[in-house]
Amino acid sequence: MKRCTYCPDDGIEADHVPPRLLFPSPRPSNLVTVPACSRCNRGFGEADEYFRSRLVARERFDSSGVMKPIYDATVRSYDKANAAGKTRKLLSEIRFVSAPPESSWEGVAPSMQVDLPRIALVVARIAMGLQWAHLGKRSPDGNGATVFDSVHFPTPLLQERTTMVQGVFEYGRRNDVGPLTDSVWWMRFYNDAAFVVWIGPRRDEAHRFDLEANVSPFS
Ligand SMILES: [Zn+2]
Repeated sequence: MKRCTYCPDDGIEADHVPPRLLFPSPRPSNLVTVPACSRCNRGFGEADEYFRSRLVARERFDSSGVMKPIYDATVRSYDKANAAGKTRKLLSEIRFVSAPPESSWEGVAPSMQVDLPRIALVVARIAMGLQWAHLGKRSPDGNGATVFDSVHFPTPLLQERTTMVQGVFEYGRRNDVGPLTDSVWWMRFYNDAAFVVWIGPRRDEAHRFDLEANVSPFS
């Protein structure tokens, strides 16, 4: 019996990596699947949807063209009868800050204070799934994934770079960094939000990244 990619339980189900809902339809056929227990597999949906909605809210998100179905699906998810709590949470994350000079806002701009640990868990899980898919191994118990802001990560340092869907998801890896590291992953979502995930012994600086973003109001 294979172990779950994310926890010590048995991996009896198949989890898609990255989560299918991050892709506009038609969804790519090259998504990988990894073994997961049913608790992990079914427990990720809400966090994945949260992650998608915060990527869509970023100022640089392009809601035209290939990404329009993702934008529409996100807007629809706030339009459901049971979405009041989700909508309140979105509104509660909005702060008003001085507009950055390059912003399309003048004077004051809305900015989101997102739930960074929740975002980091989604990103870390994708990296753990990719590690399983590429290297055929899960991290030893006690190891962890550390998520960093990676906008300035020098991608030429990657061993291999893969574009899964142009403009939607690309990633790269290194797995020869050192004996104390399983692998390092760079990933970029929606041509915009990029992260580096370091898988290996736990580090104190976990979740040290910045995903503050200006929000475009849904119309
Ligand atoms: Zn599990």
